[in-house]
Amino acid sequence: MRLIMLGPPGAGKGTQAQILVDRYGIVQLSTGDMLRAAVAAGTEIGKKAKAVMDAGELVSDEIVVGIVADRIDQPDARNGFVLDGFPRTIAQAEALEAMLAEKGVAIDAVIEFQVDESKLVDRIVKRAKDAEAAGQPVRKDDNPDVFVKRLAEFRALTAALSPFYRSRGLLKVVDGMAPIGDVTESIRRAVEETSAA
Ligand code: AMP
Repeated sequence: MRLIMLGPPGAGKGTQAQILVDRYGIVQLSTGDMLRAAVAAGTEIGKKAKAVMDAGELVSDEIVVGIVADRIDQPDARNGFVLDGFPRTIAQAEALEAMLAEKGVAIDAVIEFQVDESKLVDRIVKRAKDAEAAGQPVRKDDNPDVFVKRLAEFRALTAALSPFYRSRGLLKVVDGMAPIGDVTESIRRAVEETSAA
């Protein structure tokens, strides 16, 4: 199974992606996590990405497509994956299609999280507080100022993926403001519809 989680920051993509990993034995491919790991390790990619990420802007398509192409080729991704935070631009979506076509595989469904944007900033602030309370690193971009920029990037570049995937018959919309368990259930239904089709 190959899925894409689509939605603005704070929509719950990562939470649901983890649940899918446990349920379907697939891997979560989060470009945000991969980039943060690169920043922490001080790699060339990390050095290029750090300031851009801290400002809430998007890292270049070239860098992100490169890291996804490498990751998708690893043996653990062969069974399936859930992409979380990628693609974020039409160019990335087109690169992904080409990458998968070369391997003779395709995306099964794109899960779009519909959310009340006015509530997202509270979720981000809570995520930062929870991380701090748990002694985990707090993301530099999980604060209200940078959040505004991240949401603007989503609207300007990522929202266009919704019609892109609808036109391919892949888009499944779920209510991202529902309780976590209900969102999981909506995704389960959407995924089962896809496998039954
Ligand atoms: P996320 O963890 O998905 O919220 O991503 C955190 C940050 O990493 C974003 O604000 C971007 O700076 C960068 N990033 C993650 N995924 C992508 C992507 N697909 N394209 C460009 N930048 C990305």
